[in-house]
Amino acid sequence: MNAMKVVLHPTFMKKWKRYFFGAFLYFGVSVGGVIYLGNHGFLGNFGNIAIGFVFISNLSPINGVGVMTYFVRCPLCHGSTVTKSVRQELPDYWSAHCRSCDVLWNLELGNSD
Ligand SMILES: [Zn+2]
Repeated sequence: MNAMKVVLHPTFMKKWKRYFFGAFLYFGVSVGGVIYLGNHGFLGNFGNIAIGFVFISNLSPINGVGVMTYFVRCPLCHGSTVTKSVRQELPDYWSAHCRSCDVLWNLELGNSD
């Protein structure tokens, strides 16, 4: 018998969307901006270096989305949880399990492609 409770995580999706949107916007503006400047000759011979630099600097906010998904806090006890992309109880969503509360938090993040 599995008595684990499955509950919607109250804040994860809001935070995730905001973060993802911010990272996406940042990526679009910085990459678009540097390509625009490069195409108009403002960067001279450093155009390719600048584009490469912007791409590398964008890796951290994109990684942040992954880090956020893996380090989810339990809303009840604020302890750490174990995130998995697929579980028997929630085959279509990412979920985070808190061992001390024995609650499975549905992150509402679909895992199907
Ligand atoms: Zn907990």
